[in-house]
Amino acid sequence: MTAQLIDGVKLSQQIRASVAQRAAALTERGVTPGLAVLLVGDSPASQVYVRNKVKACQDAGLHSVLEKYDATLTEAELLARVEALNLDPSIHGILVQLPLPAHIDANKVIEAISPLKDVDGFHIGSAGALMVGRIGQESGGFIPCTPYGCMKMLESIGVDPRGKHAVVIGRSNIVGKPMAMLLLQASATVTICHSGTPDLALFTRQADIIVAAVGKQNVLTADMVKPGAVVIDVGMNRNAEGKLCGDVDFAGVSEVAGWITPVPGGVGPMTITMLLVNTMEAAEREANATP
Ligand code: NAP
Repeated sequence: MTAQLIDGVKLSQQIRASVAQRAAALTERGVTPGLAVLLVGDSPASQVYVRNKVKACQDAGLHSVLEKYDATLTEAELLARVEALNLDPSIHGILVQLPLPAHIDANKVIEAISPLKDVDGFHIGSAGALMVGRIGQESGGFIPCTPYGCMKMLESIGVDPRGKHAVVIGRSNIVGKPMAMLLLQASATVTICHSGTPDLALFTRQADIIVAAVGKQNVLTADMVKPGAVVIDVGMNRNAEGKLCGDVDFAGVSEVAGWITPVPGGVGPMTITMLLVNTMEAAEREANATP
């Protein structure tokens, strides 16, 4: 292996330690940052995700509430819970775990979350604020946790996207698009590829930074990567043996790339870490806005 590992677990520990310090300082001022996590249904994967999020909050000294509902919960009932949490002063961040059951309109629920508490960054207000470069205290909005974590990983290895060619594979609203926007704001030249891209390798071979966010094993192989490139693997898939793996052929690509993220232990923990950062940020914004 020639590539150096970008260790998401180690970086997460550092960032979570600083969140814990900020949480303690705010708690001293009488405000404990609070996150509410809403889970509808009993998907085993979602159960694991929400459990990890709640535990990470507790470990960092944040207050967290997990609300679990049966899959039969109606859309109106869920909207009413979101409305109540919007008004709850002990809650600074609201996260509705996706996917929701088919009878609930996920967009409607996300739009019901106050942009001041939208710590997942999925609200249309957050997307708009990111697009125009106005995430912050004044206009509200939060950076979606997964691409935010990827940017922190680049920063941690001292890679400045300015002037680099970044190729993002995937254009979802929660990963690919905000990732491309963050790289663009950091002055990379950005190419977005998707299922309609006829020759993916044509683009990835020119890339200094590749972010793979597809959800398919081995989408990126060694022959598609320029020597020395930084490769960030967002994908979370199960291989034939049932083991967690990313979108990148890790064994092959790590012989060519300069830097690479592992799966597990890469982007996954960083996503949760940035949820803590956003919740902390939400609580600090609220505390600073209150005289
Ligand atoms: P998604 O909504 O399914 O989007 C996948 C994207 O990949 C789409 O834009 C799709 O193109 C594109 N695509 C599909 N096949 C392709 C191909 N052969 N070549 C190029 N592009 C292709 O998925 P997502 O929510 O963005 O998530 C992507 C992956 O990241 C999943 O494995 C998910 O589990 C993982 N994930 C991980 C974390 C984490 O914390 N580690 C967080 C979020 C997501 P079209 O738009 O044309 O369909």
